[in-house]
Amino acid sequence: MQSNVTRELFDKVILPVYAPAQFIPVKGSGSRVWDQNGEEYIDFAGGIAVNALGHCHPRLIKALQQQSEKLWHVSNVFTNEPALSLAKKLIDNTFADRVFFANSGAEANEAAFKLARYYATQKYSPYKTKIIAFNQSFHGRTFFTVSVGGQAKYSDGFGPKPADIIHVPFNDLDAVKAVMDDHTCAVVLEPVQGEGGLNSATTEFLTSVRALCDEYKALLVFDEVQCGMGRTGSLYTYQQYGVIPDILTSAKALGGGFPISAMLTTEDIASVMHPGVHGTTYGGNPLACAVGCEAFDIINSPEVLAGVEKRRAIFIEHLENINQQFNVFREYRGKGLLLGAYLQPEYHSKARDFLNAAAECKVMILNAGPDVLRFTPSLIISENEIQAGMERLSKAVEKVVNS
Ligand code: PLP
Repeated sequence: MQSNVTRELFDKVILPVYAPAQFIPVKGSGSRVWDQNGEEYIDFAGGIAVNALGHCHPRLIKALQQQSEKLWHVSNVFTNEPALSLAKKLIDNTFADRVFFANSGAEANEAAFKLARYYATQKYSPYKTKIIAFNQSFHGRTFFTVSVGGQAKYSDGFGPKPADIIHVPFNDLDAVKAVMDDHTCAVVLEPVQGEGGLNSATTEFLTSVRALCDEYKALLVFDEVQCGMGRTGSLYTYQQYGVIPDILTSAKALGGGFPISAMLTTEDIASVMHPGVHGTTYGGNPLACAVGCEAFDIINSPEVLAGVEKRRAIFIEHLENINQQFNVFREYRGKGLLLGAYLQPEYHSKARDFLNAAAECKVMILNAGPDVLRFTPSLIISENEIQAGMERLSKAVEKVVNS
C-alpha cells in the first residue's frame, strides 16, 4: 500500500465531477476486489457494465501481455493486425460491414451521430439533419452526445447546444410519428436505457420505429454501449428483438476493462466517408484490440451467453428473498445482467443511500437514476460470489431501512 495515496487525496487533486466510495480498490480477481487495507468486496457493479469477464481474467491477461511485447501503438497512419482481427469478428457476427474504432462510448456515439448527419446531407439534402432521441437516454459526455442524450442535468450549463435534436418519450410511437419528417436523418436509442433507469424498448416500438425510419429515409442508430456485448444474453440486444439498426455503437464490455469502442455500420452508409472526414489518434490501438479479440471470443460463446439468463434468475431470486424481509423493491427491470431493482415509492431518491450502505457492507452496486438499484456484474460471476454478495446486500438494505 502506498501510504501517501489516500482517498483524501482524491478530494484535493481530481476534478470534482465524481463522488467515489471511501475505499480505494487495489486488486481484483473474478468478482472479488480488495482495497488498500486488504478488505474484500463482492463486485456486482462490474465497472459499470465493463468487466463482463470479471477482474483479471487469465485469458485477457495473456492477450495483453503477449501484445505488450509486440506493438503498443502505431496511430491511424498505419493499420495493425489486432484491429483488423477484431473488426472481422464484429462484422462476421453482426449486420455490419464496416467498423470504426474509438476509445469510449461517447466517441463511438459522436462518430455515429456525425456519420448519420453526413450521410443524410451528402445523399439527400443539406437540411436533413434532425435527430430524434429519447427522454432519459444517455449517450456519453461530449457536447454532441449530451445534447442527443435526454437528460438536461448532463447537457445544460455549457452554452449553445448543437441544434436540430428533438427528444420524445421512450416507447411512445405516436410521439415519434409526430416529429418524424423528411428532414429527419436519424432516430437514436438504447434498446435498454442504462443510465436512465433500465427501461427496455418494446418489440412493437422498435419494429415500428424501424419502419418509420425506412419510410422517411432516416437511419436507425442503436447505442449498445451498455446493453451490448453479451450483457443481455445475446451478443447484441438488437439480435433478440430482430430489429436491425443502420448504425450500432459498442464499448464498455468490448474491451473487458481495456478502453475501446466501436461504431458499426453498413457498406452503403460507410461509402459516404473518405479519409479525413473523421478520426482519432488512438482508435484501433493494438493493445486494446488484442484484449478486445480475446474478450469477444470468450463472451460470444454459447456457454457465456446462455449463462446470462440463468444468473439473472439467481440474482432475482436473492433480491426477492431480501424483498420479502424488507419490502424495498417494487419491480425488476432491464434485461439479462443489466438488471434494475426499482425502489418502492418510500425509498425514491434514496438509491445512493443503498449504494453507500452496500459499500460499507462490502458489496459494490450501482444506481440508475435516483430510484433504481442497478446490477451489472461479470457475466461469469459464480453462484458463490452471488450468494456472498447478496448476504452483504441484505445487511446494507437493513441499514437503510432502519436509518
Ligand atoms: N452510451 C451508453 C448507453 C452508456 O451507458 C454510456 C456510459 O455509461 C455511454 C454511451 C458513454 O460511454 P463512455 O462513458 O465510455 O463515454
